[in-house]
Amino acid sequence: MIITHFPNNFKSHQICLVFCLSALILFFASITEVRSAERQLDAHNHGFGELNIAIEGQTVALELNSPAFNIVGFEHPPKTNKDKATIKDAVSVLNNGSELFLFPKTAGCRLASVNIVSSLIDGQHAAHKDHDNDHKDSKHDDHKDSKHDDHKDRDIHSEFQANYKFQCDVIEKVNTIQIMIFKNFPNTSQLDVKTILPNGQSAMKLSPASTLLSF
Ligand SMILES: [Zn+2]
Repeated sequence: MIITHFPNNFKSHQICLVFCLSALILFFASITEVRSAERQLDAHNHGFGELNIAIEGQTVALELNSPAFNIVGFEHPPKTNKDKATIKDAVSVLNNGSELFLFPKTAGCRLASVNIVSSLIDGQHAAHKDHDNDHKDSKHDDHKDSKHDDHKDRDIHSEFQANYKFQCDVIEKVNTIQIMIFKNFPNTSQLDVKTILPNGQSAMKLSPASTLLSF
């Protein structure tokens, strides 16, 4: 019916071809844009963390990499005593590796070492202070309203890295590890797990609904 409005069928097809192709190109361009934005987020996506596990000899080594949001609920340098207390509490939970990673009892695994690194711990947020000073030197200094402070907070991203080593009496019995990260840090919605075992490597995803790692 629409075609009858055009004097020439061939011309109408040509017009459609041009418009349809343009629409298609725009559509794919927007998809590409969204995908590249997602890729940038992959590097640090709130809620998502990484857990690398290696078993060598009698030792199980675990490395947790997580946005600070998952651990303490914010990523800006601590401003208030409440912020500082939140960080202190989270670090003490992270330090208690035996409660975060549950091994089969028959394996006889004991926590041998813990190392936790984050720019939010102690005076380690010096880098952020320098960054703030850079801002003060710039033209942005004129905008001292709260909106600008909020904007600065959104631009700041911080992470936690926690390294654990467990020594196990019967390493062959380590065929599962119950991961308690989700229970202790409920802002965590997914962990990408990579394992390096004597019999090969594997990768899997854990979530609050699926927290048992089986080898
Ligand atoms: Zn972040």
